[in-house]
Amino acid sequence: MNLINLISDTVTKPTPEMLTAMFSAEVGDDVFNEDPTINQLQDFAAELFGMEAALFCPSGTMTNQIAIAVHTSRLDEVICHEYSHIYQYETGGYAYNSGVGIKLLQGENGKINAEQIAAAINPTQDWLANSQLVVLENTTNKGGGDYYTIDEIKPIRKLCSERGMGLHMDGARIFNALVETNETEREFGEIFDSISICLSKGLGAPVGSLLLGNKDFIRKARRLRKAMGGGMRQAGYLAAAGLFALKNNVKRLKDDNNRARELSATIQNLNYVESVRTVKSNILIFDLKHPLMADEFLGKIKEKGINASPFGPSTIRFVTHMEITDEMIQETKKILKELEELF
Ligand SMILES: *Cc1c(COP(=O)(O)O)cnc(C)c1O
Repeated sequence: MNLINLISDTVTKPTPEMLTAMFSAEVGDDVFNEDPTINQLQDFAAELFGMEAALFCPSGTMTNQIAIAVHTSRLDEVICHEYSHIYQYETGGYAYNSGVGIKLLQGENGKINAEQIAAAINPTQDWLANSQLVVLENTTNKGGGDYYTIDEIKPIRKLCSERGMGLHMDGARIFNALVETNETEREFGEIFDSISICLSKGLGAPVGSLLLGNKDFIRKARRLRKAMGGGMRQAGYLAAAGLFALKNNVKRLKDDNNRARELSATIQNLNYVESVRTVKSNILIFDLKHPLMADEFLGKIKEKGINASPFGPSTIRFVTHMEITDEMIQETKKILKELEELF
């Protein structure tokens, strides 16, 4: 059996069908707006979310960083959950790229609510940072794949509008939530000022993210993308993969979510597992019982052909994706059960 790679849903390689779409892409120079495939991808995504415009970028870090930069000025601050990707995993880029501070809130599974945000917004004073932007992550990554429903976002939207603040969604894995709730992209396009989505996570494209917003927002974003070195030329070959992914790989995300749930049912009962966070989508986080440490556990499963990553000294993250088959899930369950004798 091939290596069972549960490190992340970023590890997937293009399928033959996706490669065919990439090879046959029509391309041009996107810095001059002349790559027809990139234009098609951007139009398709904007239409899907009912937003005015979209911008193809090399990574989700870049789409988030550009969004923060467009929404804010220096001496502003961003409000988000302490687990947020923009805080944890983007190299402190909010400070470097935008000169803004960040106010971190706590909340279950990486989620925050309107009351907390309202209490965190600074009054207008010369000596206080200007609270200018709220970022919600959907689904939450470090929060374990939980998601916000539209009803949960509505009071946050109302608050941001009342206080003149922007509302950005880091929707790297938004489609993993949509297949669970049956809510639509358009509902999210309506409620957020800007949205970032990843094509290279569960959707299976090798590279690429999209930033969505109104025309004025995306015009500014395009300039910042260039300034950050993200103006690509014949990148339509990559956009073709993204377009293929959006058209063909969204519905199947439900299988990934179900497989994560199936694994969690087994992991819950293992004698060396302390607790498993409720699986809401394709991310499964569990804590090992003292004194078993993540490194030792990961070393043992690697010997048996399973790759995964630590999410704390004694915490493990598994992520399911399109290359994880039912057969691999059965094999993983078997290996994890066998380890009960060892730990
Ligand atoms: C993966 C991810 C991103 C973007 O990461 P890149 O590796 O830069 O594409 C942004 N937000 C979340 C929540 C993510 O999981």
